[in-house]
Amino acid sequence: MFNLILFGPPGSGKGTQSEKLIAKYSLKHLSTGDLLRSQIAHQTPLGLEAKHFMDKGQLVPDEVVIGMISTALDQNTEVKGFLFDGFPRTAAQAEALDKLLEMRQSPINIMLALEVGEEELVGRLMKRGQTSGRSDDTDESIIKNRIAEYHQKTTAVADHYKQFDKVVLVKGEGTIDEIFDRISNEIDPIFQ
Ligand code: AMP
Repeated sequence: MFNLILFGPPGSGKGTQSEKLIAKYSLKHLSTGDLLRSQIAHQTPLGLEAKHFMDKGQLVPDEVVIGMISTALDQNTEVKGFLFDGFPRTAAQAEALDKLLEMRQSPINIMLALEVGEEELVGRLMKRGQTSGRSDDTDESIIKNRIAEYHQKTTAVADHYKQFDKVVLVKGEGTIDEIFDRISNEIDPIFQ
């Protein structure tokens, strides 16, 4: 198995790059943002609870997303590996993910962290809001709140994986293909 975390602030291009990565390396894409939006679309109790937080640009409680990931891992036992996108986002989520993967004897191989300047992020998210239909992409104060959440809680996740020497920083500005090449150059030598 090959397990990869694609890490970076909202608007750093995780979704776009994930699509290309799952095609190239045949990984199963697990995006907690997509899983949560699907729960909202189906108006499940979990979706209704999560929506409160998402509408404000806040993180959904750890137990909710950890439970969703645990279920998704159980449902996908015959895959080559996972691409985690938008998860883990807190130190507690990272520790829970490590435990879940330890039970499957397939740890995280690498965390790729996309780096993009804040002004560029806000511009990209506002632009995406014109077409994505995502209410959390249209309001500048919600966007700024999501970026603040990232700095307050999510950067701790990179510190967690730095201990194990698994973090690689990748410049997330330039064309989609340039960024994809940078990412591929990091994965290819260690891909198994
Ligand atoms: P995303 O699509 O990854 O930008 O996520 C959209 C929103 O979903 C975030 O602003 C959070 O409210 C929520 N969310 C997604 N993933 C997580 C996570 N791992 N932990 C907590 N909240 C999450």
